[in-house]
Amino acid sequence: MADSPRVRFAPSPTGFLHVGGARTALFNWLFARHEGGILVLRIEDTDRERSQSELTRAILDGLSWLGITWDEGPYHQADGIERHRADVRRLLDSGAAYRCFCTPEQLEEMRDVAREKGRAAAYDGRCRDIPSDEAERRAGTEPFTVRFRMPGGDTVWEDIVGGTVRFKNSDIEDFIILRTDGTPTYNLAVVSDDLEMRISHVVRGADHVSNTPKQIQIYRALGLEPPIFCHVPLIMGPDGKRLSKRHGATAVGEYRTSGFLSSGMNNFLALLGWSPKDDTEVMEVDELIARFSLDRINVKPAVFDHEKLEWLNGQHIANTSSRRLAELVGSTLIKTGVTTEEELKTRSEWFDSVLDLVKTRARTLNELCERVRPFFSIDVEFDPAAVKKHWKHPEEVIDRLSKLRSELSKEDEWNEEELESQLRVLAELMGVGAGKLIHPLRVAITGSAVSPGIFEVMIVMGRELVLSRIDSAIRHLEGA
Ligand code: GLU
Repeated sequence: MADSPRVRFAPSPTGFLHVGGARTALFNWLFARHEGGILVLRIEDTDRERSQSELTRAILDGLSWLGITWDEGPYHQADGIERHRADVRRLLDSGAAYRCFCTPEQLEEMRDVAREKGRAAAYDGRCRDIPSDEAERRAGTEPFTVRFRMPGGDTVWEDIVGGTVRFKNSDIEDFIILRTDGTPTYNLAVVSDDLEMRISHVVRGADHVSNTPKQIQIYRALGLEPPIFCHVPLIMGPDGKRLSKRHGATAVGEYRTSGFLSSGMNNFLALLGWSPKDDTEVMEVDELIARFSLDRINVKPAVFDHEKLEWLNGQHIANTSSRRLAELVGSTLIKTGVTTEEELKTRSEWFDSVLDLVKTRARTLNELCERVRPFFSIDVEFDPAAVKKHWKHPEEVIDRLSKLRSELSKEDEWNEEELESQLRVLAELMGVGAGKLIHPLRVAITGSAVSPGIFEVMIVMGRELVLSRIDSAIRHLEGA
C-alpha cells in the first residue's frame, strides 16, 4: 500500500479502559507508529444516556498512562448522526435497505419460529417487498426501523490474522441499521465513520468477527471497498474462559494503582497475542514499535498470565533508573509516613543507592516501597514467618545478637569486607555456622527473611540505624 495506514481505536465509553481494549489500542498504536501512519481515537457514544463525559475520561486517562497517543480525535460517534442518517437514506434510495414495520410481538414470534427450526437468521424478511411508495406513506404515521437487505451468496474476506474468513449470507438476517427512534445502530455508524475517517485497517477484537460480514456488505452497497481487517485474538483467563472479573482486575487503572509500570504493562499487553520473530520478551516501548507487525499476531486466544505480568514488570523495574523509581515511589513513602519530602531531597543520592540495591527484587512499585522501608528510621515490623523460622529460640538469638552488636560497634567506619570478616570470626568463636548469625541479624534489621546481601544492606543502612535496630530487636525478644 502506497499511502501510510490510518487506523482507529474506537472504545465504547464504559467507564474504564479494560485490558482487552488497552491491548487493541496498543496494537493500533504500535502499528501506526511503526508504519508512520495515523491513529484516530473515536469514542463510540451512540448511546447518549450512558455516555457521560466521565465515562470517556476514564478511558483517556488509561490511554495517557500507557503513553498511547492519538493523531486525530477524540471524535464522538454521536456527532456524526446526521451523516449516519444520510448514509441510511442512500441505502434506502438504492434499495439496499428497506423500512420494516413489524411490531415487537411479530418479531418475538419470528424469533420463536427461528429457534424451533434452528435457523440463525430470525427475521423472515416480510417487509422486504413492500413497494417503496407504500412504505414512504406508512412511514408518516407508523413506527418503523430500517433494515439492510442481505444479498445471497457468501461474504468472504482475507483477515490479516484469521486468513480467509467466509460467512454464508443466509445465516445473517436483514439487520437493523436505523432504530425506530431514528438512531443508527453500531454496524451502520461504524462503517459510516470508518469511511469518513478514511480508515485503511480495522484492527479490533475477534469478538467483532461476526459483525464484519454485515459491515462489508454495507461498504459494497455504498459502492466502496472495505478496509483491511485484522481481528486480534480474545484474551482468556488461565482456566481457558474469557477474561473477566473472576480472574482478577480487568481495568487498566487497577494495575496502575497496584504498582505496575506503564512500560511493564505495555510489554505484557503487547505479548497478549503477538510476539517478535526471535521471541524476545522484555521490551521497552521503542523496541515494541520497532518490531511490531500485524502479521505476527496469533490466531490462538491469548492467555492472561498474572505471574508473567509480575515477572515482566519486575524486569522493567530493574531496568528503570533509580532516580526515576525514586520519583515514582516518593509520594507513597511520604504519604505512608516512611519518610519526608525533606529527607528525600537532602538524601537523594543515598536513596538512589537504596533503590540500586533492592530494585532487582521487586515486581511492583508497591513491593519496592516495602523493600525500601527498612532503610528509613522507622520501626520495622517483624514478619511472623521470618520470626518463626530464624528467632525460634529467643534466648539463643539474644545472646548471638548481643555478641554481634558489641563486635560490630567496635569499628566507627564500616566497610563491607571488614563487617563480613568480623561476623565470620565471631561465628567461628561461637562454634556456629555464619548463617546462625546472618539470618537472625537480617530479621532484626530488615524485619524480613529475605534481603539483598546483608553486608551491603548494612553499609547502605548505616552504622547508627543498624545498631539501633539490633538494640530494638533484643528488647523485643526480651519482652517476648
Ligand atoms: N466500540 C466497539 C467496542 O468497544 C469497537 C468497534 C470497532 O472496533 O469496530 O467494542
